[in-house]
Amino acid sequence: MQKALISLGSNLGESLLTIENALNEIAKLEGVRLLARSALYQTKPWGFSEQNDFINALCEIETSLSPLKLLEALQGLEQKFFRVRSENHYGPRTLDLDIIDFQELILDDPKLTLPHPRAKLRAFVLKPLVDLKGDYTFANGDKALSLLQALPSSELEGIKKL
Ligand code: AMP
Repeated sequence: MQKALISLGSNLGESLLTIENALNEIAKLEGVRLLARSALYQTKPWGFSEQNDFINALCEIETSLSPLKLLEALQGLEQKFFRVRSENHYGPRTLDLDIIDFQELILDDPKLTLPHPRAKLRAFVLKPLVDLKGDYTFANGDKALSLLQALPSSELEGIKKL
């Protein structure tokens, strides 16, 4: 069994419900056990004020799946939530699931980069991570607390714990 962190985000439709439901669905995936989940956070969409705020959360899982199989399972969940039927077309996606860190793995695959390269720049990843895991150390040695403290104030001002 290996541990992994998954970040969840949604800014379309019933985002609060989407994130809660997605956490439940992650817990039900075969080969996955939910160990812990963060609170929900509300994040201002950077530079796109006409968009809804994002709802974000983070969870820690234990899994027997390989990283790529986990990514596939999460993308399957995204498909389940992503699409809202409108006429014959599929609407915009409502759920984003990213693998933030997977055990001690460092990976640079075209499909999967680990740890997630954008995680270190985003308050909506680092804030719930520090709340959940304290000064977490990523597989590449990065420290979550130091990264959070190094974020520009613009990134920190837009996030609120619900
Ligand atoms: P996005 O639309 O920004 O969520 O990007 C989705 C794409 O990022 C997918 O095609 C994944 O193959 C790729 N990807 C690379 N690294 C990761 C990761 N750590 N977690 C989730 N998706 C990833």
